[in-house]
Amino acid sequence: MEAKLNIEPVVINGKELELPIIISGPCSAESEEQVMQTGRQLAEMGISVFRAGIWKPRTRPGGFEGLGAVALPWLKKLKEETGLIIATEVANTYHIKQALDHDVDILWVGARTTANPFAVQELADYLAGKNIPVFVKNPVNPDIDLWTGALERFNKAGLKMMVAIHRGFSVYGQSLYRNKPQWGLPIELKRRFPNLPLINDPSHITGRRDLIPAVCQKALDLNFDGLFIESHINPDQALSDKDQQVTPTDLKKILDGLIWRKPQVNGLEIMKDLEDYRTEIDHMDEEIIRTLEARMRVVEKIGEYKLKNKVTIFQSDRWADILKDRTGLGKKLGLSDELVSVVLKAIHQESINRQTKIMNRGE
Ligand code: PEP
Ligand code: MN
Repeated sequence: MEAKLNIEPVVINGKELELPIIISGPCSAESEEQVMQTGRQLAEMGISVFRAGIWKPRTRPGGFEGLGAVALPWLKKLKEETGLIIATEVANTYHIKQALDHDVDILWVGARTTANPFAVQELADYLAGKNIPVFVKNPVNPDIDLWTGALERFNKAGLKMMVAIHRGFSVYGQSLYRNKPQWGLPIELKRRFPNLPLINDPSHITGRRDLIPAVCQKALDLNFDGLFIESHINPDQALSDKDQQVTPTDLKKILDGLIWRKPQVNGLEIMKDLEDYRTEIDHMDEEIIRTLEARMRVVEKIGEYKLKNKVTIFQSDRWADILKDRTGLGKKLGLSDELVSVVLKAIHQESINRQTKIMNRGE
């Protein structure tokens, strides 16, 4: 079924929100001081939209679940003092009522909510007839139709000021990213809805602040329409997502270091340019190197375990299984045995060297 959306530019207080849209602010509003200080610094830097979570969807109970409605007056105060546009996440109709009662300008729907059509429909029904911008994050799982469906539900309820936010997709097990970007999905969304602004959330994709600049650049290279980045006056003390938040000063450095390309006539055409293929390869090589580094960290953990439990380093059965499994996968994907086994042998040798070092320490 070919989907269509009726999209209009985001207008707030009679002013159109210009592209690229840069949104920043803390994962969660934690105190009046934290909100005001972070917001003031961002406003001084020229950021126009402030984000802060009021209700936090935590994977497991016991984490910081946000302060709830008591924090909303701080956002209102920040807006009145600085003129910042205010955005927060809503997941039920109570959240929407509270947010609108406190003059929140933009509502966003989080990844866990987008994945639930019942919840999305309830929000859409409640918002019907209200002229408020709704930003829709991708669902936690890489399902383009679920993302499309959420956008359609809001659009059918009459909401036209919409923006999509790409925040990556859940992965099980070790991965370089907290949420894998799987860039093909946002590109497909852009193909389906060329008029729908699409912004990138490198904070939730990476989960670590050192990877944020590369993901931002990649998004800009792919013609994204903006960035959604978490910032906090004191990231290491943040009550949620502390590893991925940056100070407003570091945010400025990140933004200043990005190369903003000239707008492309057709965002999808960009993938065909030689230069862009090269950029793609640069990112992939970086991913390979970073994945190797992450693998070596796991190898070292195994080394410690073997040392503690007096297990030998080299286990030939395990190595034979790895080689067979990986070359088999390579073959399926059209890679030669030679390529896969040369790469694997080099990795395996490095792993043995690292574990030997650990064992020598124990002697
Ligand atoms: C957030 O933006 O703080 C958030 C909870 O994001 P997501 O829904 O992408 O996990
Ligand atoms: Mn967060």
